[in-house]
Amino acid sequence: MDAEIIAVGSELLTPQHADTNSLYLTEKLNRLGILVRFKTIVGDSREDLAMVLRAGLARSPLVLLTGGLGPTEDDLTRDVVAEVLGRPLQEVPEIRQRIKERFRHLGRSMPENNLRQAQVPVGADWLENRNGTAPGIWIEHNHRLVVLLPGPPRELEPMFESVCMPRLASVAPGERIQTRIYKVVGLPESEVDQRIAPIYRGYQNPSTTILASLGTIEVHLRARAANDGEAEDLLTELGDKIELVLGDYVYSTKGESLEEIVGMYLVMRQKTVAVAESCTGGLLAERLTRVSGSSSYFLGGVVCYSNELKTKLAGVPAALLEAHGAVSKPVAQVLAEGVRARTGASIGVGITGIAGPSGGSAEKPVGLVIVALADERGTQVREFQFPGPRERIRHWASQMALEMIRRRIRD
Ligand code: AMP
Ligand code: MG
Repeated sequence: MDAEIIAVGSELLTPQHADTNSLYLTEKLNRLGILVRFKTIVGDSREDLAMVLRAGLARSPLVLLTGGLGPTEDDLTRDVVAEVLGRPLQEVPEIRQRIKERFRHLGRSMPENNLRQAQVPVGADWLENRNGTAPGIWIEHNHRLVVLLPGPPRELEPMFESVCMPRLASVAPGERIQTRIYKVVGLPESEVDQRIAPIYRGYQNPSTTILASLGTIEVHLRARAANDGEAEDLLTELGDKIELVLGDYVYSTKGESLEEIVGMYLVMRQKTVAVAESCTGGLLAERLTRVSGSSSYFLGGVVCYSNELKTKLAGVPAALLEAHGAVSKPVAQVLAEGVRARTGASIGVGITGIAGPSGGSAEKPVGLVIVALADERGTQVREFQFPGPRERIRHWASQMALEMIRRRIRD
C-alpha cells in the first residue's frame, strides 16, 4: 500500500516553519511496509487544498492529512475533505461531550467555535486525541483510506502511535521495509556511482539512492519484502556486492558517524589521540568529543592559531615557521610530533591550512590544507586542496584528519 502525505498550514510555506510531521509519519509508515510516494505542503486555502486532495485521491490508496483541524476560521481541512468526498459534516455527541469536559477540567469556558471539532464527515470514524481537542478522522471511501491528523506534533505523534499504527497494521498488506546505509569517505560521488551503478542497476528491489553530504557519500539501499528476514536477505545480497567494490572506503554500515568509527577503533587498539589544530580551530577536537566515551582515547589538544603558540604549545621551531611558512608540510609534521611528544598520546595529529576566503596566494591557494599524523611508526603527511567556502574547507580538513586516523589504526 503506497501513501501520500498532505501537510496543511500556511505557516509551513514560510521560511520560519518546516513540515516535520511528514518525516515522523514516513518513518512510522515505512515500518508498516507502507511507502510514501508523494508529499505536498499546502496553505490554508480551500481551493488549493481541494486541488491537492483530489490529486491525492486519484493516485494514492492512503492519503494522510496533517494540520488545519483547529477551531479557527483558517482551519479548513475538515470542511474541505467533507466537501471533496461528498460526505457532509455531522456532529458526534460523544466528541462534543469530550471537548466540553476537557474545558471544564481545565477550568475554562468553551468558545462556541470549538464545537466545529465535534463534527466529522458522514460515515467516518474518529480517533481520540488525548493531548488536545481536535480528534483525528478516519475515512474509508471508494477503496481509499483518508486519515486526518492534528498539526501539533505533541498531539499527532501519540495519536498516531496509539490509534493509527495498530489500525493501519491491520489493513496494510503486511510488507516490511528495511534500509541499509553504506557511508563512504575518500571517493568522489561520481566515482562511487561508477563503481556501483553496474551492480545496482540490475535491482529494482532493493532500490538504491546515492546522497552526498559534507565529506561523506551515502549509499542507501531500501528493500521491501513480506517479512523482516526476507528484506534483510535482499539487502545483504545487493549490499555485499556493493561493499566489495567500494572496499575499505566504506567506513560504516549501521549509521555510525566517522568520529564514532574512529573512536571504536581507538578503543579496540587501546590507542590515544592528541591534536594540534590551526585552521580548524578545534573542530577536530570538537568532533572527536561528540562521541560519548571519548575520554578513554582523546587526551586533548591545542588550538595554535598564531605562530607564537605553534612554537610555545606544540614546539614548532620559529626558524621552521620562518623558512617554510605556517602552512607547510614541515610545520604540519612538527605540530603532530610535538603534540604527541608533549601529551604522551599514541597518535598526534597536526592540521594547518588556508581556510579563506582571504589569505591565499598563487603558491598557497585558499583550500590548501596539510594534515600530519604521528605515531610510533613514524609521521605521515598529506596535502589536500579543498574547494568551497571557509566552513566547508574546515569541515573537510577535520574529515580527512579523521579518515587518516581511521586508516592508520585499521592497518
Ligand atoms: P493546526 O492543526 O493547523 O492548527 O496546527 C497547529 C500547529 O501545529 C501549527 O501552528 C504548527 O506549529 C504545528 N504544525 C502543523 N502542521 C505541522 C507540520 N506538518 N509539521 C510540524 N508542525 C506542524
Ligand atoms: Mg494550521
